[in-house]
Amino acid sequence: MRKLFIILMAVVCVSVQAVAQESPLKGKKILFVYGGWDGHEPRQTHDLLKPWLEAQGAIVYSSESLDVYTDKEMMGKVDLIIQTWTMGTITGEQERGLIEAVRNGVGLAGWHGGLGDAFRNSTEYQFMVGGQWVAHPGGKVDYDVRIVDKKDPVTRGIKTFHMQSEQYYMHVDPGVKVLATTTFGGEHAPWIKDVVMPVVWKKYYGKGRIFYSSLCHDANDFHVPEAMKIMTRGIEWAAESKTAAGKD
Ligand SMILES: [Zn+2]
Repeated sequence: MRKLFIILMAVVCVSVQAVAQESPLKGKKILFVYGGWDGHEPRQTHDLLKPWLEAQGAIVYSSESLDVYTDKEMMGKVDLIIQTWTMGTITGEQERGLIEAVRNGVGLAGWHGGLGDAFRNSTEYQFMVGGQWVAHPGGKVDYDVRIVDKKDPVTRGIKTFHMQSEQYYMHVDPGVKVLATTTFGGEHAPWIKDVVMPVVWKKYYGKGRIFYSSLCHDANDFHVPEAMKIMTRGIEWAAESKTAAGKD
């Protein structure tokens, strides 16, 4: 009886370990769209993240053209879209393809200007993302990022951390779930002194999960461990848009 109990416990331990090791990205189909303004290093950040996604077991389709959003077969099969495409313009047909896919349950994840400052003329796109960049006073500055949601799986266990980069001032949808914020010092725009600004958020658009972080101006910023951790966890959350629909 005792021997049976020991064997049973060993099986349970191995199973728990297997579950813990399995990435939520395993088998997920991810469309990675990159381009737009070069200062945000779309290619370098794609080349940085793609190997990590594949190491988690994801199947990655890369595209340097927004026309992929009009590809119904592609848009119908993917679980998640990662986009880094600062500024630029999106055609009506491309926008419809993207928006319909997300409304129907495809997740969308991105960072900085690649998601939060794309297609300035497209208000429906901005409605989907939940915020739009308007300024980064002083350019690259020193600032802190404070975790405001300590229970969310994306930010759990992360403490206040420092960035030396662009501090994004954004127009933010009050409907987003804010996970982290930053406070402006007012050195470069005195009238915004002490303004608390969302940095990381999650939200829904139709059935689709949206994850956004305003961090990571360029590939170098991904070397801040907390910024990278938030990004990878946010991608994992958004990738489960179809499989964990409606939860959180
Ligand atoms: Zn930037």
